[in-house]
Amino acid sequence: MENIIQKLKEEKIKRIVIKVGSSVLTNRTSIAKERMLNLVSLIAKVSKKYEVVLVSSGAVAAGYTALKLDRAKQISRKVLASAGQPILMSSYKNKFDIFGINTAQILLTEDDFDSRKHTLIFRQIIDTSIANGMLPIVNENDISTTPDQLFGDNDQLSAHVAHYVDADLLVIMSDINGYYDANPNDNPDAKIRSEVNFITEEELGAQQTPNDAFATGGIVTKLKAADYIMKQGRKMFLCSGFDLETATKYLMDGEQISGTLFRYKKK
Ligand code: GLU
Repeated sequence: MENIIQKLKEEKIKRIVIKVGSSVLTNRTSIAKERMLNLVSLIAKVSKKYEVVLVSSGAVAAGYTALKLDRAKQISRKVLASAGQPILMSSYKNKFDIFGINTAQILLTEDDFDSRKHTLIFRQIIDTSIANGMLPIVNENDISTTPDQLFGDNDQLSAHVAHYVDADLLVIMSDINGYYDANPNDNPDAKIRSEVNFITEEELGAQQTPNDAFATGGIVTKLKAADYIMKQGRKMFLCSGFDLETATKYLMDGEQISGTLFRYKKK
């Protein structure tokens, strides 16, 4: 019964934002082609069912495959992003071409979310791309932003995108495959919490601990994204970007076999 109710709820979903992290898309020396192809093939299937917007990290990491600059330095990071963004997009294009899907690159900054005019423009660009059968691929505009205009991590960027394009669901596919009840790195018994309805200030204030040198986020930025999403009355699903079984089951069959679903519920 619970399953049927869940499925009926899922049917109301129309638009989904999928966010993928740098560690899923790149290895140290190259784009992780097979992982990217698996992801692209899943998105091709999902976009037959729902409207999809992809938020993709990986520009800086892709840039680093071409030239080894110090990503800790602001200007070097921008150079890596400017070298890497076209590498990332052409890699996506090759793969989406297989499925006959055209892609549109949309680079945003924090400013795009705080003025009605800018927000309306990017919403219209995304709506029009989708209406014309294109897949919008969003990343932060790492190249032209000043530090105070920078989101800094695509988890929170994707949560804002999901809200402003009126998506019903944000799916974060990451090297973190769920929100655990204890730190899984030093607790072998830690278990994934299947559903979370509330996030405390303490959880939000914890230190950022990304697993990967190119990833900005870690679990804290995912919790911040989830907190924002729940406050907007939307849902977020956090699952693995390496093994796509959980994401596929959830997106295609409305069945949750692992991962964490964040949705607000009154206590
Ligand atoms: N915008 C950055 C990039 O594409 C990634 C930010 C993040 O790691 O979330 O490299």
